Amino acid sequence: MALIVQKYGGTSVGNPDRIKNVAQRVARFKAQGHQVVVVLSAMSGETNRLIALAKSIQSTPDPRELDVMVATGEQVTIALLSMALMEMGLKAKSYTGAQVRIVTDDAFTKARILSIDEENLRRDLNAGYVAVVAGFQGVDEQGNITTLGRGGSDTTGVALAAALKADECQIYTDVDGVYTTDPRIVPEARKLKTITFEEMLEMASLGSKVLQIRSVEFAGKYKVKLRVLSSFEEEGEGTLITFEEDAMEQPIISGIAFNRDEAKITVLGVPDRPGIAYAILGPVADANIDVDMIIQNVGADGTTTDFTFTVNRSEYSKAIGILQTALKDIGAREIKGDDKIVKVSLVGVGMRSHSGIASTMFKTLATEGINLQMISTSEIKISVVIDEKYLELAVRVLHKAFNLEQAA
Ligand code: ADP
Ligand code: ASP
Ligand code: MG
Repeated sequence: MALIVQKYGGTSVGNPDRIKNVAQRVARFKAQGHQVVVVLSAMSGETNRLIALAKSIQSTPDPRELDVMVATGEQVTIALLSMALMEMGLKAKSYTGAQVRIVTDDAFTKARILSIDEENLRRDLNAGYVAVVAGFQGVDEQGNITTLGRGGSDTTGVALAAALKADECQIYTDVDGVYTTDPRIVPEARKLKTITFEEMLEMASLGSKVLQIRSVEFAGKYKVKLRVLSSFEEEGEGTLITFEEDAMEQPIISGIAFNRDEAKITVLGVPDRPGIAYAILGPVADANIDVDMIIQNVGADGTTTDFTFTVNRSEYSKAIGILQTALKDIGAREIKGDDKIVKVSLVGVGMRSHSGIASTMFKTLATEGINLQMISTSEIKISVVIDEKYLELAVRVLHKAFNLEQAA
C-alpha cells in the first residue's frame, strides 16, 4: 500500500465528464489498496474568468479581495469530484486550504506555504476516505484566504506530498510528460523519460509552465518523488523528475524554456558610484517586485552608466512608476522600458562539461536575424532576451540546431 498525492490541472477537471474520468482513475488506485489524496485546480478558464470579473469592478483589484474570489474556483471542483467519487461508492471528503490548514504568509496573490497541518487528512485517509484538497489556496495566520500564484495547485500537491511523506506525487495534466520544449510551439518536441530536478527547476523558473517553480523547489527540498503524466491516457510512465545521481548519461541540452511574461526597464545616465544598484533596485524590491536579469554597463563618458533589468510583465507599469518617483534620488537622466520582449533559454546539466553551446546558440539566432538584447548564463543554462515577435522562430530553430527532435 502506498500513499499517493495526485494533482489534476484545469483541463483535466474542465467539465463533468472529465471529473468523472478523474474519479475513475482515483478509484483504480484505491482498488489497488493505495491511500489517495487528490489536489485539484479550478476548471480551465475559471481563474481567468474570475480575475477578469474582478477587473471589471476595480482596475487593479484589491489583492485580499481578489484572493477571496479566485479561491472559489477550486472550491467548486473539489466538491464535484467528491460527489463523483461518492457516486461510485467511495468515501470522499473535500477540503479547502483553510480546512486542511495550509498556512501561508500574507503575500496575497503570491503567498508562500509556511506549514501544513496534515493530521485531519491522515485521520480521514486511515478511515478509508479519499481526501480531495483545493489547490492554489491557503490561509495566513489571521485566517485570511490567500492564493499561491498562477499554477499554484502544483505547489499544493507537492507540499502535501512532502507533509504527508507520500510515496509519490503525480501531476496529471493535458500533456503526457515534460517535453524538450512546449509541444504546442514545436510539434517535434520529444517527451523526456526523466529530467533532473536541477534542470526542471531551471525549466520552470525560465518559463516552462508545465510545473510551477515552487512545486519543484518543494520537491527538491523534501525529496518528493515527482512525476508528470497525462490525465487523458490510461497508460504511460510520464516524466520522472530525478535527482542527478540517479540519472544515466546526460544529454548536453535537455530542453528549451521560454517566458512571454517579461518586460525590460532601462535607467539611463546613472552616476557610476557605489550604492547605485541598491538605489535603483531597493525601491523595486520594497514593492515586492521580483527582478530577474540585470545588466549594468559603463557609459561612453566613463562617469555614468546605463542600468537594465527585467521584471514580470504584470509588474512593469508599477516598476516604471516607482522608478519615475525615485529618478531624482537616483540622479539618473531617464527611464525607458519595453514590454514586448521575451526570454528564451537553453537548459542542460551537460553544459557543465561542454563548451561552445553559447556560440552555437548565438550563431543560430544570428542566422535568422534575431537581435539579442540581453544575455545571461549559469552553469546549466543560457538565456537571451529578444523581441517577442521572434519567440516561436527562435525556439524552433534552436530546437533543431541542438537536435532535440523526436527520434525518427
Ligand atoms: P494544468 O492546467 O494541468 O496545470 P498547465 O497548462 O499549467 O496545465 O501545464 C501544461 C502545459 O504546459 C502544456 O499544455 C504545455 O503547453 C505547457 N508546457 C510548456 N513547456 C512544456 C514542456 N517543456 N513540456 C510539456 N509541457 C509544456
Ligand atoms: N487555478 C489556478 C490557476 O489557474 C491554479 C492552478 O490551476 O494551478 O492559476
Ligand atoms: Mg499548471
